[in-house]
Amino acid sequence: MRCAVFNTKPYDRKFLAAEAERVGGEWQLVFLEPLLTAETARLADGFPAVCAFVNDQLDAPVLEALAAGGTKFVALRCAGFNNVDLAAAARLGIRVARVPAYSPYAVAEHAVGMMLTLNRKFHKAYNRVREGNFALDGLLGFDMHGRTAGVVGTGKIGECTARILAGFGCKLLAYDPYENPAMSKLGASYVSLEELLAASDVVTLHCPLTPATHHLINGERLKLMKRGAMLINTGRGALLDTRAVVAALKSERLGSLGIDVYEEEGDLFFVDHSDHAILDDVFSRLLTFPNVLATGHQAFFTQEALEAIARQTVANLQEFAAGTKLTNEVKA
Ligand code: NAD
Repeated sequence: MRCAVFNTKPYDRKFLAAEAERVGGEWQLVFLEPLLTAETARLADGFPAVCAFVNDQLDAPVLEALAAGGTKFVALRCAGFNNVDLAAAARLGIRVARVPAYSPYAVAEHAVGMMLTLNRKFHKAYNRVREGNFALDGLLGFDMHGRTAGVVGTGKIGECTARILAGFGCKLLAYDPYENPAMSKLGASYVSLEELLAASDVVTLHCPLTPATHHLINGERLKLMKRGAMLINTGRGALLDTRAVVAALKSERLGSLGIDVYEEEGDLFFVDHSDHAILDDVFSRLLTFPNVLATGHQAFFTQEALEAIARQTVANLQEFAAGTKLTNEVKA
């Protein structure tokens, strides 16, 4: 069977092709460069399966085009599925599976790396020292030890992040509608989101993007945060109301911001835009702040994570081909 693998980079091809060959199953993976959109969906005509990533569009019109071309299965090679209209998929008879966990360590370590960079200003120190400037003015940080870190979303990634922060000697606060017993063992206290925001020196977001978490951090909630606190988002861009975050940075209520995801990243990330102007004024404004660190949806990007994503994606395809239960199916 053939699977159209959209939105592929050389690293996707390398890991997925190696896994398909290792398994030796019946799938022929056809690697395509374009994002999956209404304009490109026809490329999948005649393919029973499509493989897609975080910024591929799987809204109703795209799913309808895929269904018309004979596609019956979407294998997401990511954990989040906020980009899929699951109700439309069900209506069209397209089943969807994801990779629920690949390396929570990868994302947690990136989140903590962002905290350390913003705190100890490694990005500035790197440039300064290379220019022969050994002055320390402007590089003052704080001990993570003894500071309060608030973890919003305490699933796999949130727990890993909390584990690292516990190692630093941080006091841990947590917010999640469902408590994770491992967090209490780390010494974390579950509190309301409002209490967490008011008491934390660092707030790190690890919940999924759902209608309930869209703009979870908005203007009102930013006002609840400690003046000068750090906010880290490696979850999904729309967890933040980015315009409200810009205002909070301008008023210096927000001390620093680390983002690996952005509300409008679909038009921006995973592509080299270095030879032309960036047209997104909100993102460009963010980059003018010295206390903002942005990475381009890179938190998952480790050797171990790419191997695990390839392994699980091919396993999901094998299950679909065999007609057995889809272990990682997502439904509306
Ligand atoms: P998970 O399902 O293990 O944990 C998510 C947690 O969020 C759960 O405990 C859930 O109860 C909680 N949650 C749900 N609604 C909430 C709310 N309103 N407020 C607070 N918590 C809420 O998922 P995970 O593997 O830890 O991944 C978390 C998210 O990280 C994913 O949904 C994805 O969007 C994002 N992610 C980003 C990258 C990246 O490269 N930047 C990579 C992987 C995952």
